[in-house]
Amino acid sequence: MEIYTPGHNYLTDTLIMWGLMSVFRRIKSCDPAEIQIVGRGGRYQIIIKDENCINGFITELNEAIRERVDQSQYQSLVEQNAKKRKFRECLISTSLRDGLDPDTQSGVVLALQFLLEKEFNFNVFSINHIDEQNEGRLGRGETLYLPFSGIYGKYLTREYKYEEKSYRVCPLCIAFSALGFDSAVAIARRRTERIYAVFGFDGSTTLEKINALLDSIWYEDGVNTLNKAFRNNASLTTLAQAFIVFLKMPREIRRTLPQISWYMILYSYDVGRTKRITNFQILDMAPIRNAIQYIEEEYEYLPRLVDLLLDKSSIEKGGDEVLNALSEFAIARRLDGAYRVLRLLKSLIDRLDEKKPPSRRVKNELYGLLTPNIAMGLLKSLG
Ligand SMILES: [Zn+2]
Repeated sequence: MEIYTPGHNYLTDTLIMWGLMSVFRRIKSCDPAEIQIVGRGGRYQIIIKDENCINGFITELNEAIRERVDQSQYQSLVEQNAKKRKFRECLISTSLRDGLDPDTQSGVVLALQFLLEKEFNFNVFSINHIDEQNEGRLGRGETLYLPFSGIYGKYLTREYKYEEKSYRVCPLCIAFSALGFDSAVAIARRRTERIYAVFGFDGSTTLEKINALLDSIWYEDGVNTLNKAFRNNASLTTLAQAFIVFLKMPREIRRTLPQISWYMILYSYDVGRTKRITNFQILDMAPIRNAIQYIEEEYEYLPRLVDLLLDKSSIEKGGDEVLNALSEFAIARRLDGAYRVLRLLKSLIDRLDEKKPPSRRVKNELYGLLTPNIAMGLLKSLG
């Protein structure tokens, strides 16, 4: 059997794909090698070759929903005839509670509950889902929430605000986006802003090969690193943020990701009063992945180097600037870029104060990491 993500936009489709995968991987009798996923321009075709994956789906889907929506609390709100916004109180998942604004949270509860009460049928994810469900700017249904749509970039050049007619989708699109968001999205914080990172891809692979991206372990270190950097007021480009998230994945995960065209959707949203998308970018990960691979063939201390560059005392002296230059180098891979990274690094070390103990410690360790191998690694990645 084959199904398709609807074709709304890169972000929503990627979330829905991960949402579906998060259910398949729960089914014990389902062989993940028998689930093929083909990404094409932001839409995914999913080919399910194992009957067990189809038969076990509804049970695990319902279980996944019950783990996220407190059923007795939900029932009592229904009996009280509670207002829509009250329903967010039933949400159990931390990342949905912490990563979304209150309106989206309530909408997610209602959409998940709708899916639980309605028998799921794979036919709904046909190639014509949008037409069949009457979705889109002139369509019916629920408004597609900003954290699941990212406003599609093109509206971003304007006021960063959601305007015109809202984009409407069916409850299933919201429910599976929420499951995907909960399972595969890395969320960092900068005051009331949330920075989200999620992987999408073009090309063909199987659930077995990308399973690791449904475990929080892939992003935990990256998120902690970004959170710390933002607390220390680092000013990092989007590219540098993507570089950090990728580099900080456990080595065995990032090195064994299949060789398909990965991209990272990195976007941010202010969950505070203003509720607006503050950044939205889709970044090709191939150059970053290749550069890191080449550098690491000569020099294995990159992750530690990043930690030191984002130390409070480093950031005060331009450690964030070194990282911005390093991530730019990974994309452009030009000789002058390599020199620039080394020059900035050297000048940062010179400027770190020897008299203050924390700063001295960072200075000494950075000095120890500034070996000829880092230059060799940078040169090697020139190709
Ligand atoms: Zn839909």
